[in-house]
Amino acid sequence: MSSEQNKFIKSLRDERNIWLNGKKIDITTDENFSGTLKTISELFSMLDHPEQREQVGYLSPKTKEFVHTAFYVPHSYEDVVKRRTAFETWSQSTDGVMSRLSDYARSRLTGWYASRDDYKKFDKHFPEKLKTYYEKARDEHLFLSIIQRDPQINRASQSSNDLKDLGLLRVTKKTSDGVFLEGAKMIGTAAPYSNDLIVYPLSPLKEEQKCLAHMLVVAPNSPGLHMVCRESFASFKKQQVNAPLSTKYDEMDALLIFDHVFVPWERVLLYDNSEALWQIKLDSASNSLAYHQAIVRLLTKLEFVTAIALEIAEVIGADGYLHVQEKIGELIMQVETIRALLIASEREGQINHHNTYIPNFTYIETARNLGAKYYPRALEILQLIGAGGFIQLPSSIEDFQSPLSSLMSKYFAGANIGADKRTKLFKLAWDLVGSPLGSRHELYERFYAGDPIRNTANQYHHYDKQKLKQMVKKYIG
Ligand SMILES: Cc1cc2nc3c(=O)[nH]c(=O)nc-3n(C[C@H](O)[C@H](O)[C@H](O)COP(=O)(O)OP(=O)(O)OC[C@H]3O[C@@H](n4cnc5c(N)ncnc54)[C@H](O)[C@@H]3O)c2cc1C
Repeated sequence: MSSEQNKFIKSLRDERNIWLNGKKIDITTDENFSGTLKTISELFSMLDHPEQREQVGYLSPKTKEFVHTAFYVPHSYEDVVKRRTAFETWSQSTDGVMSRLSDYARSRLTGWYASRDDYKKFDKHFPEKLKTYYEKARDEHLFLSIIQRDPQINRASQSSNDLKDLGLLRVTKKTSDGVFLEGAKMIGTAAPYSNDLIVYPLSPLKEEQKCLAHMLVVAPNSPGLHMVCRESFASFKKQQVNAPLSTKYDEMDALLIFDHVFVPWERVLLYDNSEALWQIKLDSASNSLAYHQAIVRLLTKLEFVTAIALEIAEVIGADGYLHVQEKIGELIMQVETIRALLIASEREGQINHHNTYIPNFTYIETARNLGAKYYPRALEILQLIGAGGFIQLPSSIEDFQSPLSSLMSKYFAGANIGADKRTKLFKLAWDLVGSPLGSRHELYERFYAGDPIRNTANQYHHYDKQKLKQMVKKYIG
């Protein structure tokens, strides 16, 4: 085991309160987490590898040691391509399936760091606090997660009298050392694997909701903080071949419950400051860098679905049918549209007033919003091609060693491959289209960036509509 791998696993043995199936567990020894922990720690170990570290890392200006490129502030087109290479390397190692490997949260932090001086007018301590934390996270290789949404108790209620009943995360006590918090936040994807949790509200807040307007860096082992995990998809009891993705790519999602949790002032990045929080949410460097990572990953995931669809069509001899070719053509169009938008966003980036090169957000936003529609459609196409083949599979690959093996080898065979390989292929595909992990990913792609309807409507709001209006104006005066 490499030193980074070892360090990362050790860092999670810190008495954090993680709950699964009614019990407090240690994720470094619990078998539901072992496959994913191995995947994440292997990615971390790339920084120890002489060739791989060039692909995913750069030298920290402070320690002169390799750190992850998600922390790299781009000053040119080439720098953004360097960031893309690092994200591609990690997402290709996980087939685009793992989405919150911390490179998204690290990119957000990097964007805020690059723009930190813009927020001095709201809070004079913010730039220095942010810089100190960014350098710590970068040089200590911290795995970060961002959690913003309030618990889904009652979306209709907006009244400030209901804060407690709605379970909203609020400061209940302030001392000279820091603040105490009560309430909850969702969805903490990969929170159990994180070294720090960055928590702030998703929506704009009114003046009477000031007690919710904070940006906090919360230590996962803070006394009183509980992470309540959903059911594990990691299928540890099954063979890898039955659920090859669930076994090693289940990032886990957790509800964070704050029961009188203390956060020291140096980790309270913003306090009672709705205006600063809203501006930070709109920060163009942070949004562009974070969603640039998200669409690099999306591209790999769509390529993976397309590759499986191609293979399935050939294996069942359906690749000659026009409608199957048309469907695979649609998948290829998805892949190439996202690729084109990614390239365009990088090429048409701009240097901002902090000398940060920001990928073009209009293209990134378009790719991100298309992704929310493309991915469910890609799974639908996969289902339409594979049809009953996803279900009519032996219960396990071990069945091929049973007394029925010769009959099974005949009847589970494909057009161009043997029964065992066909079974492996369909079980891989089922882990994307039909397993709990697969369904979770469909939901993730629809919602991870927030409400998809609002996100698409925002394209209308932000678009420069004047040019379009001119085209019609000449006819109507
Ligand atoms: C698998 C997964 C992982 C995620 N990981 C993270 C993460 O790591 N960090 C993070 O911060 N977030 C994460 N998200 C959460 C994501 O931010 C939210 O799911 C998203 O913002 C939608 O909010 P919600 O799920 O609370 O849905 P809700 O807001 O509860 O919406 C439920 C329904 O009510 C409708 N609705 C709600 N409010 C209104 C309104 N005011 N007007 C009209 N309609 C309304 C919605 O359109 C929807 O149909 C994740 C989501 C998923 C699915």
